[in-house]
Amino acid sequence: MGNSTKHIFITGGVTSSLGKGIIAASLAKLLQSRGFSVTIQKFDPYLNIDPGTLNPYEHGECYVTEDGAETDLDLGHYERFLNTPTSQGNNVTTGRIYNNVITKERKGEYLGKTVQVIPHITDEIKRNFYKLGVEGKYDVIITEIGGCVGDIESLPFIEAVRQIRWDLGPNNFLVIHLTLIPYLAAAKELKTKPTQHSVKQLLEAGVQPDILVCRTEHHLPVDVKKKIALFCNVQLNCVIEAMDADTIYDVPLLMKKEKLDERVIAKLKLTGRTNTDLEQWKEFLGRLKNPTQEVKIGLVGKYVSLPDAYKSIIESFIHAGASLECKVNLSLISSEEINPDNVEKKLGELDGILVAPGFGERGLVGKIEAVKFARENKVPFFGICLGMQIAVIEFAKNVLGLADACSTEMRPDTGDPVIFLMEEQKGITQMGGTMRLGAYPCDLIKGTKSAIAYGKGKVSERHRHRYEFNNKYLELFERNGMVAAGKNPDSGLVEIMEVQDHPWFVGTQFHPEYKSTVLSPHPLFIRFVQAAIDKKQQV
Ligand code: GLN
Repeated sequence: MGNSTKHIFITGGVTSSLGKGIIAASLAKLLQSRGFSVTIQKFDPYLNIDPGTLNPYEHGECYVTEDGAETDLDLGHYERFLNTPTSQGNNVTTGRIYNNVITKERKGEYLGKTVQVIPHITDEIKRNFYKLGVEGKYDVIITEIGGCVGDIESLPFIEAVRQIRWDLGPNNFLVIHLTLIPYLAAAKELKTKPTQHSVKQLLEAGVQPDILVCRTEHHLPVDVKKKIALFCNVQLNCVIEAMDADTIYDVPLLMKKEKLDERVIAKLKLTGRTNTDLEQWKEFLGRLKNPTQEVKIGLVGKYVSLPDAYKSIIESFIHAGASLECKVNLSLISSEEINPDNVEKKLGELDGILVAPGFGERGLVGKIEAVKFARENKVPFFGICLGMQIAVIEFAKNVLGLADACSTEMRPDTGDPVIFLMEEQKGITQMGGTMRLGAYPCDLIKGTKSAIAYGKGKVSERHRHRYEFNNKYLELFERNGMVAAGKNPDSGLVEIMEVQDHPWFVGTQFHPEYKSTVLSPHPLFIRFVQAAIDKKQQV
């Protein structure tokens, strides 16, 4: 390796869902706060080329980066913690690795060799491990390996990690293993055996973890730590306790208290600032934990039984709420359960209504009812992507009198296609990676609620859609009080629609939630929460 980038690998054992992404993001935050440039990448063992084609119920939200990559939701955490953008290079799957290798094979690039998992797949994995580091932009790259040690599919990644220790040499390489120390209530005991077994599995693959981060519901007494250190070949001070936290945003401070960053710095011989600067982070936590008011907001969507499907929206409310010292009580409401008879009962108590992004027809009626309720009762409304499209359909039906209006996504034969397929989408047959994806500019129209919220005239926001507002109808909409507040300067595509005679009714074709971070909460979320506060106070 021709540069001095240091690599940290984070593996997981015992069970999934231990929060590797949050530990990775927290460690990165601590290193960043000491002045190191750091990025995080995630390697996922599944065979999909990317999670773009995965049902949110399978995998949670699909997070979209500036460069239009459809990625794992952990990348959202990386951005929210670090306040720096990620890219396609930050998320690689087994599918992508194999796709690259097979494409090279077809081109004859292996010169007649038998193509094998070792060395060809592992070489391709290593090339991707190093990729973000080749320009020397980062002091540290943290690589999260998805899944659990011992899974058949993660074996080639673990093997690549094993090989890398020798490529990189001492002080440039570190493995952190995240594990679980379960508490047996009946025996009143913390059990270390699952951790011993998972470290043994890593050792069998030739990888010795340097640091163990142990998830636990109870403090780890010293004798438990000693036992783990002894059986797992790690120094006592490298057994790090990770207690369950009230909020994921506490984890950087918890890890700092446990000296995770100090251990990493010592082991990698990183030289730089010794003091961390987490003032802004602490201020955020202070506001988050000491709200002076609260509001109730309803998120209407069809994937509500798995909150991870709306991860970025949920986090955006946390950021916006904290900036206003307001606790946002978010209730996830299934659009399929809303109908004209119960809409008042379901939504009547809310201070704000958000209709979520989504695909397909399921829950359409309920979403239209939710929009109608918000519009007619002057409840602050925020529609995102599909939510904006539904708001347009509702306005067309109930204000413009276009009873048949719909999106051609749900009704290809609608007489009034107020939302229709974008020109460049016609003829596309491949599903993966073919939507309008990533960052596009948007010019804001002066005096609109959105322009006031942003406080500027030009913004850039991320997209993930195939359908768009049909500009043929724009004049009719505007004459009747629903106006375009933002447009793409190059194509004229409508990016934001607002109802004028309403305290706050904004629908965006883009996804503002992908850009909200702890240090820069999104202005549209802030103004929406403020509108909810105002409504509550009026009552
Ligand atoms: N299904 C809609 C479209 O493709 C909206 C997509 C979304 O909400 N992300 O345009």
